[in-house]
Amino acid sequence: MKSRFHLCENAEKLRNFCLSFYAIPLHFIISKCCLNSKEKNSACEEDPYKKDREQLFDFAAKYMNLKNPDILRACKTVPRHKFVPSREADQAYDDCALPIGCGQTISQPSLVAQMIELSELKPGDKVLEVGTGSGYQTALLAELGYGDVFSVEIIPQLYERAKKILNELGYTNVKLKLGDGYYGWPEYAPYDAIVVTAAAEKVPPPLIEQLDEGGILLIPIGPRNRSQTLWKFVKENGKLTRKDVGNVIFVPFVGDGIRND
Ligand code: SAH
Repeated sequence: MKSRFHLCENAEKLRNFCLSFYAIPLHFIISKCCLNSKEKNSACEEDPYKKDREQLFDFAAKYMNLKNPDILRACKTVPRHKFVPSREADQAYDDCALPIGCGQTISQPSLVAQMIELSELKPGDKVLEVGTGSGYQTALLAELGYGDVFSVEIIPQLYERAKKILNELGYTNVKLKLGDGYYGWPEYAPYDAIVVTAAAEKVPPPLIEQLDEGGILLIPIGPRNRSQTLWKFVKENGKLTRKDVGNVIFVPFVGDGIRND
C-alpha cells in the first residue's frame, strides 16, 4: 500500500526524530513561537486555548505533512486541555505527552494526529482504539465523525473519567468498554482500523482476527519503557503486510491476555 508518510525530502532521519515520543523538542519550538498566545487568548472567555490549539496543529500539520483536512479540523476542535489534569492545562497545547494519572500518559498531539491519518479512515468506517486513557484520541476519532468509535481501557479510573468527559462533550458516536484490549471487542468486529496506544511485545492475535479485509492496524511493538517501533499492518487476503512507521515510546500494554500469550 502506498505510504502517505512523507515528512520532507530527507525524511528517514527526521521521521524517526519526529516520532520519538519523549525526545521531540517540537513543543519547545512551538512554545517559543507562541510566547504571546496566552495573553492574546485571555480575551477569549469561551475557550482560552483556542488560538494555542490552532497554532499547535497548523505547525504540526506542516511539520508532519499531514494531508487530511478533516483530521486537522478535528484536532483544532477537540479541547485537549479538558482531557488532562487541571494543573497540566497550560501545557495541553505543547506538543508533548503529559501525565494523566495511574502512571499513564496522554499521547503527544502530533503523534495522535499522525496515527489517525495513518489509519486511513474513510466516512462510514468503524474504528477500535485499544487504550482509551484520557479519551483524547477517542474524542478526535469521534469528532472526525466518519463512523462509530469503539475504545477499550483496562484501568477503571481512566475508563470512568474518559466516559464522563466524552459524555460532557456530547460525543454520542463512541462506545467505551472497561476490559483487556488484548481481546479486542469481538461483538462489533470487524473493524476498518484498530489503533493501539500501548506498546506490546507482539501483536495480540484477536486484534488480527477482528481486522476487516483491507483494514489497518497501528501498534507500537517493543520493550517496556524503551524505544519501540510503530508498525502499520494492512490485512490483505487474510494476511498482514507491515510497514515500519518510526520510533516511539508508549506506556506498556498490560493485562492477563498479553502476559499469558
Ligand atoms: N490514547 C490515549 C493514550 C493513553 S496511554 C490518550 O489519548 O490519552 C495508553 C493506555 O492504554 C493507558 O490508559 C493504559 O491503561 C491502556 N492500556 C494498557 N494496556 C491495555 C490493555 N491490555 N487493554 C486496554 N487498555 C490498555
